[in-house]
Amino acid sequence: MVPIIDLQSEYRLLKSEIDTALGRVLEAGAFVGGTEVSALERELSDYLGVPHVIGVGSGTDALFIALRALGIGPGDEVITTPFTFIATLEAIQIAGAKPVLVDIDPATFNLDPKLLEAAITERTKAILPVHLYGQVAPMGEIGAIAERHGLKVLEDAAQAIGARYCANGSQSPMAGALGHAAGFSLYPTKNLGAYGDAGFITTADPTVAEEARLLASHGQKARYHHVRPAGYTSRLDTLQAAILRVKLPHLESWNQRRRQIARMYDQGLKGVVQTPTQAPYALHIYHQYTIRTPERDRLQAFLKERGVGSSIHYPLPAHLQPAYRELAPEGSLPHAEQAAREVLSLPMHPFLSDLQAEQVIEAVRAYSK
Ligand SMILES: *Cc1c(COP(=O)(O)O)cnc(C)c1O
Repeated sequence: MVPIIDLQSEYRLLKSEIDTALGRVLEAGAFVGGTEVSALERELSDYLGVPHVIGVGSGTDALFIALRALGIGPGDEVITTPFTFIATLEAIQIAGAKPVLVDIDPATFNLDPKLLEAAITERTKAILPVHLYGQVAPMGEIGAIAERHGLKVLEDAAQAIGARYCANGSQSPMAGALGHAAGFSLYPTKNLGAYGDAGFITTADPTVAEEARLLASHGQKARYHHVRPAGYTSRLDTLQAAILRVKLPHLESWNQRRRQIARMYDQGLKGVVQTPTQAPYALHIYHQYTIRTPERDRLQAFLKERGVGSSIHYPLPAHLQPAYRELAPEGSLPHAEQAAREVLSLPMHPFLSDLQAEQVIEAVRAYSK
């Protein structure tokens, strides 16, 4: 049996530290905000190299609060990818704006920058690239286009904590430091996961940071003084912060291990299925290791019979979802549509053993014989 993910092994490894951290919060009796949350925000800011980190309740909250903090709202258009988790589009709609879909580059599954300019109208206010599967979008090209047209760039970095954009060898800024703001998810299965829902916003802009903090906390500047309408109650939970502070120091080595497993998969599966492409500018952290094959559904059934887990991210692009049909007609975003028919994510987590990785490779090869 090779499960697609294994959260128990991680807890077992860190059990005494996590239990102690939880006990500390429970003993202190302070369950909202407090030093655990502010310390985690500081530690994330140091790790990611972004001046401001604002903890919120989830990755979805992070995205729509960041959009609002960037000044995006009703009447505005935001360009994004159809090949993502639906929260990316929901965030745009919750902020009151309209998602405009642009097709992906089939090699990386990320937004194709060559298609961006044709989608820009006088209503366009922002571009929302997703760093899908843990690989940064082509942020150099996206940033240049945004600058030319006076647009904001919000990164959906939910799958990319620790991923880097390798700009010119010496400098390799991390996801979260590549646009005007970014939204991260700390959902349990992400590379850094809470034991429940959590997320955060990053930005280098102090005004955006302050606005995001206001909005996330009932639009209040000081207690019971509300300076923005329609604020939210979106918090990074204190117990989750305590857990995340135990886990954060391990993230680099966990991402390293994911990359090691990816190299094993690459070698074992090259020529058997289409293995993921690492773009020259990207340090991929393999939130997912996603292969492509026209025989995806049959391969998945075969793997299941052999006890090898796998999963499809995502079986439908956004514009073919019943709720989003009006965004674009079928056939108009062909690369996203084809990817949705062909992608399959293999087991990938830092506690996967070499032996398990070999079993996955063996199973995929056995199907292809
Ligand atoms: C997980 C995810 C989100 C949403 O995060 P939640 O914490 O579940 O709200 C948004 N975008 C992408 C690409 C994701 O993978």
